[in-house]
Amino acid sequence: FFVAFEGGEGAGKSTQVELLARYLADRGYEVVVSREPGGTPLGHRLREILLDPREPAPSPRAEALLYAADRAEHVAKVIRPALARGAIVISDRYVDSSLAYQGGGRDLSPRDVEQLSRFATSGLRPDLTVLLDVPPDEGLARTGRRDRAPDRLQAEDAAFHERVRNVFRQRAEADPERYLVIDARLSAADIHRLVVQRILPVLPF
Ligand code: C5P
Repeated sequence: FFVAFEGGEGAGKSTQVELLARYLADRGYEVVVSREPGGTPLGHRLREILLDPREPAPSPRAEALLYAADRAEHVAKVIRPALARGAIVISDRYVDSSLAYQGGGRDLSPRDVEQLSRFATSGLRPDLTVLLDVPPDEGLARTGRRDRAPDRLQAEDAAFHERVRNVFRQRAEADPERYLVIDARLSAADIHRLVVQRILPVLPF
């Protein structure tokens, strides 16, 4: 069973990933927690290139390819093997982040990003995606920290984050069976309860 958490900056994904992982592990499930970018040794190096504030911003297509390379490695080395053993995989970000950031944010064509993602994942989709939805100004205020070079910060303005949020929301609205949308302004405990409520009945065992 494969769960992805998605959301903009400061949505609280990593807190929820941790809470869910602990909850499921306490109930005897094998849980593999991972993230993008950075869930593998190669991905870790790509993350440094993508998010190091000293690195200049890559061109949008190069950036999309680097995220796709990170994801291809992640799927091949972590996600698929874990699923094959029957583990529950929880990923902090997945394909929707590329559709939102590289597609919506950077204005690459959604079709191109989708094709690239399909190639990277060889078609693997999450069974459930939890979208932690937060208005960008509130999320950004929460993170405080931005691991971005100044030229990137400038490109990633309020409109950029609005576009990112809109893509996340549109995807979730189009496929309610595979998505759970939660207002990320709720307390961490309330969000966790909603996630558990949704996930327990759909776990395959
Ligand atoms: O979720 P996390 O904070 O680890 O994400 C790191 C950053 O990578 C985010 O700030 C996001 O802007 C960026 N990102 C991106 N495109 C992706 C995934 C993440 O721009 N596909």
